[in-house]
Amino acid sequence: MTESAARVVTFHYTVREAGGEEVQSSRGGEPMAVLLGAGNLIPGVDAALAGMSVGEARTVEIPPEQGYGRRDEALVQRVPRKHFDKVPNLAPGMQLMANGAQGPQVVTVVKVGMSVVDVDLNHPLAGKTLEFDLEVTDSREATAEEIAHGHAHGPGGHAHD
Ligand code: ZN
Repeated sequence: MTESAARVVTFHYTVREAGGEEVQSSRGGEPMAVLLGAGNLIPGVDAALAGMSVGEARTVEIPPEQGYGRRDEALVQRVPRKHFDKVPNLAPGMQLMANGAQGPQVVTVVKVGMSVVDVDLNHPLAGKTLEFDLEVTDSREATAEEIAHGHAHGPGGHAHD
């Protein structure tokens, strides 16, 4: 294995807010397959996986700068309530999917008024230090097609129609 060769790594992960509750896990399902170094993962996880061998398990702490970035208060915005006409039981804390400039993104409802709604467009994990339990189950050289597409194919990877 040469260090410059692009690799597809298959791995299980569990992510927690540092010292807090589990946010998400691949355990109980199929592991995820990802082309490393292609911006498919937050930088801290990409770098950790690049340094791991098959069968290795590791817990890494990832600061916001290597994770989902810092919170940006300018991303808390006030929008007309009519945009949410189709959402039943609109309430603070609710997370909705919206189509943003860079594809689907999570929008968190902060406050619901009579005619306006305050929403937070920051990633829900922005500004948080995260703990990832990582276990690498497979690692292989990426195919030319995967490198061209910028993502992994096959089980756990990107499925094309
Ligand atoms: Zn593809």
